[in-house]
Amino acid sequence: MTNMKIAVLGLGIMGSGMARQLLAAGFDVTVWNRSREKAAALGDAGARIAQTPADAATGAAIVVAMLANDDVSRTVWTGEDGALAVMDQGAIAIESSTLTGDWVFELAREAVARGVRFIEAPVTGSRDQAAQGMLRFLVGGDADTIDAARPAFDAMGSALVHLGPVGSAATVKLANNFLCGVQAASLAEAIALFEKHGLDVEQAMSILFDGAPASPMVKGVGRRMLDRDYAPHFLVPLMAKDLGYAAQALAEVGITSAIAIAARERFLEADAAGEGHRDIAAILEPLRGA
Ligand code: NAP
Repeated sequence: MTNMKIAVLGLGIMGSGMARQLLAAGFDVTVWNRSREKAAALGDAGARIAQTPADAATGAAIVVAMLANDDVSRTVWTGEDGALAVMDQGAIAIESSTLTGDWVFELAREAVARGVRFIEAPVTGSRDQAAQGMLRFLVGGDADTIDAARPAFDAMGSALVHLGPVGSAATVKLANNFLCGVQAASLAEAIALFEKHGLDVEQAMSILFDGAPASPMVKGVGRRMLDRDYAPHFLVPLMAKDLGYAAQALAEVGITSAIAIAARERFLEADAAGEGHRDIAAILEPLRGA
């Protein structure tokens, strides 16, 4: 049991699981989410529900954000009623969303200018790992600050890799999702090909599931595609966002990533076709109808 006050900003698929793990570990947890209904269950579990990011961050030793994208992160940390302005000197801001290195770096500068310690900590693992406290944190920042926040990381995850200064983790996380997104997009095209040829798709897929392409991504998302199981683990528009950020990161070092751009199109098409509220496995649906 600990009295350390931790605020969680963003209670989507990932943030709600993370907040629940912090509560289970005995922290004094305050939560904030734009859509208040998602906070109710955490309130029932013992969290204080805040009205604004600033309300949540007031008096917190650690503030963790798990939000959709750069624009949302900017608003929640630095906008009106944003968290950063009210944080105590020496308190720790942890940004766990998948974001561009450029924004994370700017946010870190703003935090430090206000006397707030900053860590970027995007994650690998998805809905189920967040719910079970089994995330892997990819961390950029100062080692002493990471050590100070370790009890919170231990509650939310099963591994932490310190990759270097702020910005390092964003780079690795975007590369991670670049490879995941490309695999999911090519997998959808392969399954559509099998279906359109009238093949026994389970049998055809067993070749991929048992062969060289059988990454955890191919096996997990492939199974969900075959089962038409689109309950969200990771939403379609978020993968489009990550592939866009990955393409941007590559462009910044002089590489035009035709691969990231093409894969992103599959996710944008699915979003435009009304699959935006579903799991990334649903990118197969527009191809089935093609
Ligand atoms: P999610 O369920 O869609 O949650 C997104 C969060 O951002 C929600 O709290 C949402 O609030 C908030 N948000 C969106 N637009 C907003 C706005 N304009 N103003 C204020 N808040 C806003 O997504 P998630 O899966 O939890 O992902 C969160 C982050 O983790 C993303 O950066 C994602 O790329 C990353 N991530 C996800 C996974 C995964 O497998 N799901 C894995 C690793 C990393 P509302 O509830 O009000 O919409």
